[in-house]
Amino acid sequence: DLPVIYFITPTYPRREQVAELIRLGQTLMHVPNLHWILADDSATCNPMVIDLLPRFGLPYTHLASPMPEIYRHVSIVPRGVANRRAALAWIRANIKSGVIYFGDDDNTFDLKLFKEIRDTRKVSMFPVGLIGEYSISSPILKEGKVVGFFDSWPAKRMFPVDMAGFAVNIEFLLQHPNATMPYKAGYEEDRFLRSLGLTLDQIEPKANGCTEVLVWHTQTTKRTPPVLRIDSVLDNSLKDLLQ
Ligand code: UDP
Ligand code: MN
Repeated sequence: DLPVIYFITPTYPRREQVAELIRLGQTLMHVPNLHWILADDSATCNPMVIDLLPRFGLPYTHLASPMPEIYRHVSIVPRGVANRRAALAWIRANIKSGVIYFGDDDNTFDLKLFKEIRDTRKVSMFPVGLIGEYSISSPILKEGKVVGFFDSWPAKRMFPVDMAGFAVNIEFLLQHPNATMPYKAGYEEDRFLRSLGLTLDQIEPKANGCTEVLVWHTQTTKRTPPVLRIDSVLDNSLKDLLQ
């Protein structure tokens, strides 16, 4: 009877990917009635991810959702947008009720978060840790209602929130057939929420009146794989084997 949480995760191939997905998948394993939508930024579903997904015992959908080539060459790449758009299209085509949440593959989630978002009626919001210069991004409440936002990068946004800082009811999403996320780095959350026709008074604050941090925008140090100098690391007998 619990509403299903559709947990939408953009992911892309790099050497940290499997580590990120193991950690995230093993968090999601603890959550009842959760369906994981893993949207892969690749032309075809990545075989390493195909092998990994069944191991968590979760219902899941794996989508191939490559970023259109034109966006890979702009100054600030809109990361994860093609993926989230594909997941939204899948939801619209297949699902009638439940809750969506955008959880990136490198974030950190307290299991308490899932209890909070599950009863989202329209759009719920809550603080996100490790965001920007202030280290936190959060709705500001007055008498239990959201009246503004605390975020180090307001940028004239109506909803200056992080992707991990809100959840959306699927029936509410379906009432807005044109709602979408733009390929505009930095403005994805704001424009998506605005396309839902959201107003401040509709926002449902969670996490004990937005006083608790239940999700963190952790980031993993990225490294370019080294160019392996086979000659320097293998002895002669192994080199023979590789010929
Ligand atoms: N991502 C993607 N393609 C890319 C870069 C990132 O699909 O080329 C995904 C990534 O896996 C993550 C989300 O988009 O789930 C946000 O990317 P990232 O974590 O690098 O952004 P940041 O946390 O630095 O804003
Ligand atoms: Mn990230």
